[in-house]
Amino acid sequence: MLPGGLWNNESRQRQFHFKPLTGEVELALAESGRTADKLPQQVSAVLPSALDSLADDSPTYEAVARLSVGDRQYLMRRLAIHLGHDSIWLTAQCHQCAAPFDVSIRQSQLPVKRAGVAYPFVEVDSAIGRLKFRVPNGSDQEVVAALDDERQAFMTLLTRCLIESCDADVSDLTDRDIQVIESAMEAVAPEVANQIQATCPECDAENIIEISPYSCLGAAGKNLFSEIHQLAMHYHWSEAEILALPRARRSTYLSLIDRARGMRN
Ligand SMILES: [Zn+2]
Repeated sequence: MLPGGLWNNESRQRQFHFKPLTGEVELALAESGRTADKLPQQVSAVLPSALDSLADDSPTYEAVARLSVGDRQYLMRRLAIHLGHDSIWLTAQCHQCAAPFDVSIRQSQLPVKRAGVAYPFVEVDSAIGRLKFRVPNGSDQEVVAALDDERQAFMTLLTRCLIESCDADVSDLTDRDIQVIESAMEAVAPEVANQIQATCPECDAENIIEISPYSCLGAAGKNLFSEIHQLAMHYHWSEAEILALPRARRSTYLSLIDRARGMRN
């Protein structure tokens, strides 16, 4: 279940299922950096190829782009776990004694904050009247990622998320209004943990360590191309046939090739 969900026909749809893991999913992850240069676009491209269903429907690019930011981060972290990267090591440097140290975490055990009751909407009283917004989603992130100016980016985001009082101009909002809107959105939006606390083993200082929900982008499939190469050389299968194999079956064939090679040597 998604911590937020897609808003469809006046109700929230929270179900999702990943596809069985094949080389196709790994290829989409390995190529994500090449198909799009900005992170939100990469996420929107990867999730439809990894998901089997989303909100009881087919997982289109459009549906994935309509997911709230927190749901997208949640799915990317679940995908990392699906790929077998649940237990991971983080490397940090102590802010107090500068000693480097490693922390082991399980991604499946990181906290997730579920969406508030009013999700995906927030209503706020402001200097220009009562305003209704929806929480930011993937397509907002895609648009805003192309803007360099931080204030312009935030104003663009607010204009996109404003769903009623269409004649309102967000540039008339006061700084205090903006603060109120931001915290109202944060209160309602789903969230995944993006940092953890860890104690330095040398000096016992508490450290905050960043943990990206997008760790599987680009990281997966490091060996994918050499595995395709070995299988294609040995069995003369096409790239598409190799990519369609479940990952477990692919590794069985690879170990058979290794064993045959061992016998020859
Ligand atoms: Zn320390």
